[in-house]
Amino acid sequence: MTAPADNPENLLETLLSTIETQIVPLTTKGVSSGSKLFGAAILRKDDLSAVTIHCIQQFFSSPDTTSSPRPATRDCIFVTTHEPCSLCLSGITWSGFDNFYHLFTYEDSRDRFGIPYDIEILQEVFRVRAVEGVHESDESLARRPLYNRRNKFFTAKSFADLVGEMTGGEKVKRKWRGEIERVKGLYDGLSGTYQEGKSQGVASASVWK
Ligand SMILES: [Zn+2]
Repeated sequence: MTAPADNPENLLETLLSTIETQIVPLTTKGVSSGSKLFGAAILRKDDLSAVTIHCIQQFFSSPDTTSSPRPATRDCIFVTTHEPCSLCLSGITWSGFDNFYHLFTYEDSRDRFGIPYDIEILQEVFRVRAVEGVHESDESLARRPLYNRRNKFFTAKSFADLVGEMTGGEKVKRKWRGEIERVKGLYDGLSGTYQEGKSQGVASASVWK
């Protein structure tokens, strides 16, 4: 039996609408009062319904009763607006989620949001130059992925990766790439408000996500 999450088109449609209809409105309210731009949601794998919007802590403080048990992390899909920072990568791993899907990549965070720290921290703290042989060149070091997107704990995919998995042909893929860009565009205005707030010294919860 195939679950709704096994169909990349189905899944992407739900991920995009979760961001557009649930996360963006919350973020819009938050950003104007100085909070961060980053959002997340947790969905059930079986029917793609939302369990919580916002974060891991909220998920674990949601009611877990016999009549309405909280789903196990293994049975959930983790959706984030931005590719998770090193701290959140660990949080997702330790909580037992076996997946996450992100709209924006680290490069987007750097280039569209002016936030280079995700890349910098992974490069500076976690990446070790290979010691085998004599010396790993800067070029070879730079080509290495910043983390294992497929590992024994989780599989990470961008929304664009899901488009790559679609079998519907180029027309279908083009439609979904357009949808991804449209939803990314919803953040353009928000990013402006966020950066303005930072430069005006509005107390931001943190620059990290
Ligand atoms: Zn984070």
